[in-house]
Amino acid sequence: MAKKEVKQNKISKPRCGLCGKVRNLTKTDCCGNWICDDEHKYKAFSYARNSCHRNHSRYTLCAYHFNEGHEGEWQTCRKCWNSFEAEMYVWYGTNEYNFVKLKNPPDYKPTRCAKCEIVIKLSTDGHSISGGKYLCVECSDRETENRIKQFESDKANK
Ligand SMILES: [Zn+2]
Ligand SMILES: [Zn+2]
Ligand SMILES: [Zn+2]
Ligand SMILES: [Zn+2]
Repeated sequence: MAKKEVKQNKISKPRCGLCGKVRNLTKTDCCGNWICDDEHKYKAFSYARNSCHRNHSRYTLCAYHFNEGHEGEWQTCRKCWNSFEAEMYVWYGTNEYNFVKLKNPPDYKPTRCAKCEIVIKLSTDGHSISGGKYLCVECSDRETENRIKQFESDKANK
């Protein structure tokens, strides 16, 4: 009897697969892994990334693939691949919100600002897209300013 008990104690408690916490867990719909049931911690519009559950369901291919109802595994899914810029695809597949990361992420060219050619990290750097081109924050601010100036001088000339 005593032996059996030891064995049972050895069965490790479920832990959040992302941060290792053992309290308030739930299972993900997409992949059935234990994860913090902490969606409520997120403040609307704060853009904070402090909720394991939210991070996994918003920022991973695993959840996207599941929510879109694709077939097969997300790692080999063409639909997922076609849904994102390569850079975002790789980020969604390899960031720390994944239980299983993409093994052989494809190479991709870094995204550069169409004006100043600075490299923009789409996952973390602010940017804007105009006419299919990416602009860094500075250039897009300048662009907006120019547009306003242009608009005002047009008005003045009329
Ligand atoms: Zn967690
Ligand atoms: Zn998942
Ligand atoms: Zn998919
Ligand atoms: Zn720029």
